Amino acid sequence: MSATKTGPNLAKIESKVTLKKPHPCGSNEFIVIQMGIEVVLKCLKCSSFVRINKERFDRFVK
Ligand SMILES: [Zn+2]
Repeated sequence: MSATKTGPNLAKIESKVTLKKPHPCGSNEFIVIQMGIEVVLKCLKCSSFVRINKERFDRFVK
C-alpha cells in the first residue's frame, strides 16, 4: 500500500479531529479512540462515544 495519501487517513488513535457534522451537544471536536472499519470517537465536550463507519468518517472529517 502507498503511504502518499493524505487527509483523514492520517488520523491516529488519540488524535483530535474536527468533523463537519457536529455532535448533538454542539461540539464538533472529537478524539479518535479506535480506528478500523468502524471508527470510535469521543466527544471532547460531553465525553460520549460515537461510532461511525470509516467511509462516513473520511467524508465528515475536516
Ligand atoms: Zn458531545
